[in-house]
Amino acid sequence: MPQKIGIPRTLGYYAYYPLWKTFFEELGLEVITSSPTSKTILDAGVKEAVNDACIPIKILHGHVIDLKGKVDYIFLPRLVSVRKFGTETFCPKFLGLPDMVRAAIADLPEIIDTRVDLAKGRFELFRLCCKLGERFGASLPRVIRAYWRALMVYRQYQRLLRERYTPVEAIEILDGRQPESQDSPKESLVFAVVGYPYAIYDNFLNVNLLKRLRGLGVRILTAEMIPTRLLIREAKKLPKNLFWHFSNRAVQAAWYFLYRERVDGIVHVTAFGCGPDAMVDRMIELEAKNNGHRPFLSLTIDEHTGEAGIQTRVEAFVDMLKLRRGVL
Ligand code: SF4
Repeated sequence: MPQKIGIPRTLGYYAYYPLWKTFFEELGLEVITSSPTSKTILDAGVKEAVNDACIPIKILHGHVIDLKGKVDYIFLPRLVSVRKFGTETFCPKFLGLPDMVRAAIADLPEIIDTRVDLAKGRFELFRLCCKLGERFGASLPRVIRAYWRALMVYRQYQRLLRERYTPVEAIEILDGRQPESQDSPKESLVFAVVGYPYAIYDNFLNVNLLKRLRGLGVRILTAEMIPTRLLIREAKKLPKNLFWHFSNRAVQAAWYFLYRERVDGIVHVTAFGCGPDAMVDRMIELEAKNNGHRPFLSLTIDEHTGEAGIQTRVEAFVDMLKLRRGVL
């Protein structure tokens, strides 16, 4: 029977899941993902995580608990940097994630906490894949095949995102499933939704924000749908980059959508308890107001986010823009 490795369905999941899933399957492991976020996962995470953690980190703890008892290993890489150049790193909570989880949750299966620091050199991803292959007893030719196959599937995933599928939809397509129809037939507005992928695409956490917007006739654009080189080019207008990877992407996406795409409004989904977001949210708000001249809505999500609160704010924002465009 193949050994089972668990991947939590949050944080890096929306960016890298197809790559790691393919790699581990090619090594002969069975990949199990945690269940979609639910009240049970949220409550378990809130109970075990340190009090002052941001909500996505609390939810990660819940996903790890969901995997406990179902798998032989949990894959929780220490994400340091995925940029080959520059000084950008992941936020400190990503850097300390494996230690935080080990300290908080007892009796876990072995945590595979591979350090991912692609700034170390061109072949760093290959090198760390070799180390992982060695850990699971795979021969070098098998590791090389798994590495290339994983890169190929990752490129397919990127292509689907550029075709403007969300990560959740693209993963469904790669798994041979048909995603729900992307956009509402009566679209009259286009919104850019910016923020961390683990906040934007976690339907439980954001109480189905994307579906809600689509239901109100809004076409959605997100950072994942835009090639990274275009986001980085737009960010050159900024006097300085932020240090943190996902914060940088949120700001770059906001600048791109303010100046390069015709969007009717910008929605920033921010995570309660996130230090970097306090600055990112204000930066985007000021730029949208003072220079981009685009309506802006900030939605903060936390463990108490209620459906009614989000629905009221989203509906009011959409109605205001429809009135402005004369389509209401
Ligand atoms: S960037 Fe913010 S939300 Fe994400 S893990 Fe760090 S503190 Fe939490």
